Amino acid sequence: MDRDDLFAAEAEALHRATAVLADPASAPASHRAALEELVQHYGQLMRQSRRLISRSDRTERELNLLNARLQQLSDELDYKARHDNLTGALNRGAVFERAHQILEQSSMSLIVLDIDFFKRINDEFGHPTGDAVIRELVGRLRTTLAGNGVIGRVGGEEFTILLAGVALEQAVTLAGRIRQAIAGERFQCLSARPVTSSFGVAWATAGSDFEEAYARADQALYQAKRGGRNRVESEDTVTG
Ligand code: GH3
Ligand code: MG
Ligand code: MG
Repeated sequence: MDRDDLFAAEAEALHRATAVLADPASAPASHRAALEELVQHYGQLMRQSRRLISRSDRTERELNLLNARLQQLSDELDYKARHDNLTGALNRGAVFERAHQILEQSSMSLIVLDIDFFKRINDEFGHPTGDAVIRELVGRLRTTLAGNGVIGRVGGEEFTILLAGVALEQAVTLAGRIRQAIAGERFQCLSARPVTSSFGVAWATAGSDFEEAYARADQALYQAKRGGRNRVESEDTVTG
C-alpha cells in the first residue's frame, strides 16, 4: 500500500494519459495537457532515481570499507588470541595446537628452555628490565633459529621450540647453540651480568602424544636445573 501511495501522483497522471489515449474523440488540447503532466512526472522520477542510485553507490562503498575494517579487526583479534604480546611468540595454547598439528604429519623434536634465576633479575633490576630480558632473549632465539622452528612462550620465562622433522641429536646441538647465543654475550638491556638459561630436549614420533613428549622435555629441563643450570639435557641423558 505504501508503495502505491509513494507513486500516487504519477499513477494518476498515467491513468489520465491512458484515458486520453484510449478516447479517439479526445481533443488535441487534452493530449497536450496529459503529455505535459507525464513529462513533468517522468523528469522528476529520473532526478529522484539518479539521487537514489548515487546514494546507494555511496552506501555500498561505505559498507565495503566497513567490511574490510571488520575483517582487519577480526584478523588482529585472531592474532592477539594466539600470540604473546610481550614477545610476539605464540602463546601456550597456540604452540600446543601447532604441536598437535605437526605430530599429525611428522615426527618432531622439542626444546624447552627456562631462564636461570630470573626472579633475581626482577628483584635486583626491576620488572621492566625483566620484561626487556625476555624480549631480547626471544630476539636471540629468532636469530639463532633463522626461520626454522616454531617459538612459543609457554610460561613467564619459559619457552618451547618445535622442530618438525628434526632428529633428537640435531635438536640437542641446536639447543647448545641457543644456550651459547644467550649466555655468550651480555644482553643490551642488562649489561651488569650474564643471562643464562637451561634446556630440556625431547623427541616425539609422528602420531604420538605431545603432552608426553613435553613432560619428557620438562623432565630433562629439571635435570639441567639440578645439574647446575646454563646447560642442555635431553631425554636420552635423563636417568629418571
Ligand atoms: P630457576 O633458575 O629455577 O628457573 O629460577 P627462577 O628464578 O627463574 O624461577 P622462578 O620460577 O622462581 O621465577 C620465575 C619468575 O619469573 C617469577 C615471576 O615473577 C617472573 N615472571 C613471570 N612472568 C614474567 C614477566 O612477564 N615479566 C617479568 N619481568 N617477570 C616475569
Ligand atoms: Mg627460571
Ligand atoms: Mg620458570
